[in-house]
Amino acid sequence: MNIAPLNNWFNNSGKTALIAGPCGAESYQQLSNTLTDLTKNNIRPGFFRAGVWKPRTRPNSFEGKGEEALKWLKDLKKEYSVKTIVEVANAEHAELALKYGVDALWIGARTTGNPFSVQEIADVLKKVTVPVLIKNPIHADLQLWLGAIERIANSGITQLAAIHRGFYVYGKTKYRNKPFWQIPIELRTLVPQLPLFCDPSHIGGSVDLIAPISQKALDLGFDGLMIETHFNPAQALSDAQQQVTPFQLNKILEDLICRQKTDLNDNDKTKLHELRNIIDDIDEDLLNLLKKRILVIEEIANYKKTNHIAIFQLERWQEIIRTRAKLADKLGLNRQHVEKICQLLHEESIKHQNSIMNKLS
Ligand code: PEP
Ligand code: MN
Repeated sequence: MNIAPLNNWFNNSGKTALIAGPCGAESYQQLSNTLTDLTKNNIRPGFFRAGVWKPRTRPNSFEGKGEEALKWLKDLKKEYSVKTIVEVANAEHAELALKYGVDALWIGARTTGNPFSVQEIADVLKKVTVPVLIKNPIHADLQLWLGAIERIANSGITQLAAIHRGFYVYGKTKYRNKPFWQIPIELRTLVPQLPLFCDPSHIGGSVDLIAPISQKALDLGFDGLMIETHFNPAQALSDAQQQVTPFQLNKILEDLICRQKTDLNDNDKTKLHELRNIIDDIDEDLLNLLKKRILVIEEIANYKKTNHIAIFQLERWQEIIRTRAKLADKLGLNRQHVEKICQLLHEESIKHQNSIMNKLS
């Protein structure tokens, strides 16, 4: 994929690349008040965001002001000398946004999951040069995210970035959308040159989670943040509980710690090298232990086969979980983490026993 470096197209005047603005464009006055408060708090986002078409889960919610809001953004971008970005969900949105001089587009989570919609947007973009940011799809499917990025890249767009906004999970969690950080990390491994943004607003769903999620994203090497801000969140017509005031946003940005990515000094390099050598040795020990474990499992499988004993024994499995959880507590290890590891070991053990016991002989 041909992807331009972020600093070629993104004006970063702070600690990290920042996209900020309200969830939705509600009125000219609301946008103007928010921009005024951003200026008062010395925040100059690389792009001012505002949803013009709002994809809402239920009807009869605020669904955005459409074309009318594009006119407000056109006037305000001159008045405040700020670049603008809106969400597009189909070809018509993309055409209208470009007609009104919007500077960048983002594809929302609901659209990323629909290859037909992404393709029709990509077809409109064949004729233009515009930055496009692609949110992850609603559910945790890296291939679907990658597919949307490839479709846009295939249309000739090089000013590309991905936005991590978390994933829907059934049931109650402390997040509105669970982050599953390993998915954006995997995306980075597959497409290292693709800039990564984090949207802590839609991950967290509440004001108090914006700072810790932003910090975590920066610590994981994300290149920028997209944060919802509104001059008066209590009156917001959508996502009121997660929008921060420009004043709060300034405080969040001030408190962010930007740790160095690669420019390590010689001391850091030596110390890290030593510690990483220790980790390498520990991993080697762990793998040797796994090999030992597999050899014992093979003996168990042969024994069960000879003596007609079923592979899965519920009591034994319950005993493993119980004793390992107890040991985890005693050692001060995270119990859930240890349970997950046991689960993986058990799955592999069953697979292995199955292949031995059901081998045709
Ligand atoms: C938004 O950014 O306001 C939005 C609708 O986000 P998402 O597509 O992540 O739900
Ligand atoms: Mn929103």
